[in-house]
Amino acid sequence: MAITAMTAGSQHYGGLAKELGVELISVKMAKHLDEKDPLKHLRAEFCIPSKKTVVPEGADVAEPDTACIYLCGNSLGLQPSGVRTLVNEELDVWATHGVTGHFRHPKKRPWVSIDENVIVQSAKIVGASPKEVAIMNSLTANLHFLMVSFYRPTKDRYKILMEAKAFPSDYYAMESQTRFHGYEPDDAIIQMSPRSGEHTLRTEDILDTIEREGDKIALVIFSGVQYYTGQFFELEKIAKAGKAKNCVVGFDLAHAAGNVPLRLHDWGVDFACWCTYKYLNAGPGGIGGAFVHERHARADLPRMSGWWGTDPATRFLMDNVFRPIPGADSYRVSNPNVLAIMSLLGSLNVFSQTSMTDLRAKSLQLTGYLEALLLAIPNRGFKILTPSDPSQRGCQLSLLFEEGLMMKVFEALEREGVIVDERKPDVIRVAPTPLYNTFSDVWQFVNILKTAVVAARIDSAGNVSEEARKGFVTS
Ligand SMILES: *Cc1c(COP(=O)(O)O)cnc(C)c1O
Repeated sequence: MAITAMTAGSQHYGGLAKELGVELISVKMAKHLDEKDPLKHLRAEFCIPSKKTVVPEGADVAEPDTACIYLCGNSLGLQPSGVRTLVNEELDVWATHGVTGHFRHPKKRPWVSIDENVIVQSAKIVGASPKEVAIMNSLTANLHFLMVSFYRPTKDRYKILMEAKAFPSDYYAMESQTRFHGYEPDDAIIQMSPRSGEHTLRTEDILDTIEREGDKIALVIFSGVQYYTGQFFELEKIAKAGKAKNCVVGFDLAHAAGNVPLRLHDWGVDFACWCTYKYLNAGPGGIGGAFVHERHARADLPRMSGWWGTDPATRFLMDNVFRPIPGADSYRVSNPNVLAIMSLLGSLNVFSQTSMTDLRAKSLQLTGYLEALLLAIPNRGFKILTPSDPSQRGCQLSLLFEEGLMMKVFEALEREGVIVDERKPDVIRVAPTPLYNTFSDVWQFVNILKTAVVAARIDSAGNVSEEARKGFVTS
């Protein structure tokens, strides 16, 4: 099946089911899609937890030894099977070689340049040249380090444009940066909210704001994919509009890296950062990533420097002369965590068996199928916050439940070995990822969800309220 925007939309699946002579909601349909999946072999590269290990204590889950339904790659990606070997190899080198492993390494991965092993593939994933990417620190730390260079407010141009509902860590970073420079966050930060009655920002409104306020804006910063709604912002248009007004443009790609296609270099983005433990599967607290556009490679920007950012040829002369490495590597402050790099390498080795184009193609299908099944539930008790246009979202769909239902549904899913995540008060985020999820995962999730919603509407006395009977009015 060729994948286009047409086949990615939920409408496509009704027609396909007819063609195949099966019901849209039948397990046959899921099995058919799994059989046709050209990336199905990649699931074997991951450790999929079994149901019995993920359900809460005391839950009596059916088929406890089967794989859980893991739809939480937006929060923590699963462990690639190759990671353990790579991490163990480094533990062995440390045990057998001690400090000499920095320069002489039996696996040809001297620790002094260990991050070279993860640069090329990381750059491919974000659409950058290798010189534009550094793997270092962690996400919020990188945001701060990069803002030292890229948020340089002046009397006339000191504002930051961001979303009102950005991830709190990003807001704290922006707030503290404005204060650090002597501004009041309420004045210095322009926070954009969706129009009343809407859940996601319209690109036209973002572009209008940049056009209107641009002369006062020092920094335009958006997430790539919004963590709560799943909206994939139109980054190319935002970058273009920001640059046209001479603003610095930066993106937080926490939920975008490894999820959606990115072309940071071509889009002319000034800087970006991301974490590697979500869609990049590098493990809890994984090392962060940073992008600095080539045009800043030699710029003499103020920065916070450390010994890992200086030219390696003279690093050990100890002469106190900082000679920045041309490119993003000049932003490295410390020597990188070798075990964290290996963990990332284990995951990137799986990414290098495919491409972001192929992953996106499958992702559009998985999420389109999920949407089609969700919309086929009558009186479903939730609505989907995420844009219905496949080009405006990544793999995640965010379900906003009728008041009072969400936690009950979430706990019921948990007891059945379904891992999704909840955001209070009323949202469950569901993220089928193309590397390890199957269409059958999606099918099972929707079936368990249906039952959970029905059960959640019955109160402890066994009554089903009229309100609950009607359910949400959803389109
Ligand atoms: C996950 C996430 C973070 C987490 O920050 P860390 O510094 O890695 O703890 C920050 N911002 C966004 C938008 C995120 O989605």
